[in-house]
Amino acid sequence: LPNTVGWIGLGVMGLPMARNLLKKTKQDTKLYVFDVVDDAVKQLVSESNGRVEACANSKDVADKSTVILSMVPEGSHVRSVYLTPDAGVLASDLGSKILIDCSTIDTGTSLAVRDACSEKHPKATFYDAPVSGGVIGAEKATLTFMVGCKNDDPNVQLLLNLLGLMGGNIFPCGGASLGLTAKLCNNYCSGSIAIATSEALNIGIRSGMDPRVLANIFHTSTAQSAILDDWNPVPGLCPEAPASKGYKGGFRVQLMKKDYALAVDTAKRVGAELALGGAGLKVYEDASVDERCRDLDSRVVYRLLGGREDW
Ligand code: NAD
Repeated sequence: LPNTVGWIGLGVMGLPMARNLLKKTKQDTKLYVFDVVDDAVKQLVSESNGRVEACANSKDVADKSTVILSMVPEGSHVRSVYLTPDAGVLASDLGSKILIDCSTIDTGTSLAVRDACSEKHPKATFYDAPVSGGVIGAEKATLTFMVGCKNDDPNVQLLLNLLGLMGGNIFPCGGASLGLTAKLCNNYCSGSIAIATSEALNIGIRSGMDPRVLANIFHTSTAQSAILDDWNPVPGLCPEAPASKGYKGGFRVQLMKKDYALAVDTAKRVGAELALGGAGLKVYEDASVDERCRDLDSRVVYRLLGGREDW
């Protein structure tokens, strides 16, 4: 592994991921970091025993590191990190450096950044490598990484080793931007299952059934899912699920709206029919701006859909 690593974006996901990198690399590995907000940078520097250095901008990070990772919210932020003249990653003299963007964004932006990179720096390589597993996965280093590369990519071993410090499962997805495609397909599926599970359990509750019995039946029948077992939308069914803690923690509903919308866009682009896409997207759009749901775990759609919380 290289002993100079760059990290851009130290938010809810980026900070614990960067901490794991530090924890699991040798003492002589240095981390060069930048975030537009100072607080997390200062926090990481202060706890790092001199192994983390704050940088002035993304170019500065790239100047000092051999591998550069980024974890920012949306496509516009990724453009800003990589393409800002004089201060973006691509303004650095990259040589054969490796750039890895872990943000969940649209495939078009990711491919545009990749093309700009290979045009300006033919020896450098840009990869999309979004993650699943949430904040807990980021803290426990159990994230799933979906990497936009082939199995026989020349850098695949380095990608597996490096991302393996932060994750339990690393999947090369077959080519550029296909890591993002995989991530969007996953979140479309899990977002749709959350709506269906909410609706089905609510039918049962309103018909007079004990939802614990119904959930046990789903579990041993064909409606079983990770949403049912670990992220159940009905308060009280899974003690550890955000729903049982006032929908606090978990995956913010605005992020699910973003990913669901990106999946619906991708479907249009590739000509994949979606029967649920429009309806599901409206649910997440409404929940994202609804006072009872905004900023809460995305399974709060149960509440938006009129789910009974007092069963
Ligand atoms: P966040 O808002 O907590 O963190 C993003 C960080 O990026 C912030 O600290 C922000 O200041 C920084 N940033 C924004 N623009 C920047 C720029 N131009 N230069 C440098 N830093 C910049 O978001 P998050 O929850 O960490 O999510 C990051 C990405 O990970 C998103 O694409 C999200 O969809 C994805 N993701 C999130 C989760 C989750 O559970 N939160 C799970 C999987 C994937």
